[in-house]
Amino acid sequence: MITVATSNAGKLRDFQGAAAEFGVEVRGLPRFASLPPAVEDGLTFAENARKKAAHYAAFENCDLLIADDSGIEVDALGGAPGVHSARYAATANSNAGDAANNAKLLRELSGTPAERRGAQFVCVIAAAAQGAVIPEVFTGTVRGMVLQEARGGFGFGYDPLFLVPELQKTFAELSAAEKARFSHRGIAFRKFLEWLARTR
Ligand code: IMP
Repeated sequence: MITVATSNAGKLRDFQGAAAEFGVEVRGLPRFASLPPAVEDGLTFAENARKKAAHYAAFENCDLLIADDSGIEVDALGGAPGVHSARYAATANSNAGDAANNAKLLRELSGTPAERRGAQFVCVIAAAAQGAVIPEVFTGTVRGMVLQEARGGFGFGYDPLFLVPELQKTFAELSAAEKARFSHRGIAFRKFLEWLARTR
């Protein structure tokens, strides 16, 4: 059993989709909502993933706990929003939801032609075994491009804007199994499972 420390239902679905083909059981962290949030003030995905894993492992006695930090890096924006993806459109008075984040991304890229709309999703997983953060982190990256408008009804976050050129589909047009196969999160999770198989 692997416990995922996240409040994001979309991320949990992605992990469950990626785990299904290996017969691995994944659950969310019980009591997550009642725990104080981790402080994500790292400058990199890896730093923040490790902070989250350490923070939540201190509250729950799990054999294996993982946390991911992830986001979209857009070439034409110098890699933004990157580690700030979740709160890209946030202001002093309001938190950013997916719709506001997507609208901001489209605004920032307005007038940018298709050939300069390249982007990548990055996911870094950190893990804690019996409460102690392990030294390794597991990184998945997937290249694609940001469309001019949203397509597809599945997924979360920037999924409807992110086109995978080989598939000619956005992440929001993929089933859970397909997203697990192609996504940054699926790639990072399989690297974590390989580590697990090597070490246990
Ligand atoms: P985190 O919880 O700080 O890792 O924030 C991750 C943010 O990056 C999410 O809230 C989304 O905005 C974005 N993101 C990361 N992975 C995905 C994905 O698979 N699809 C769509 N958006 C994603």
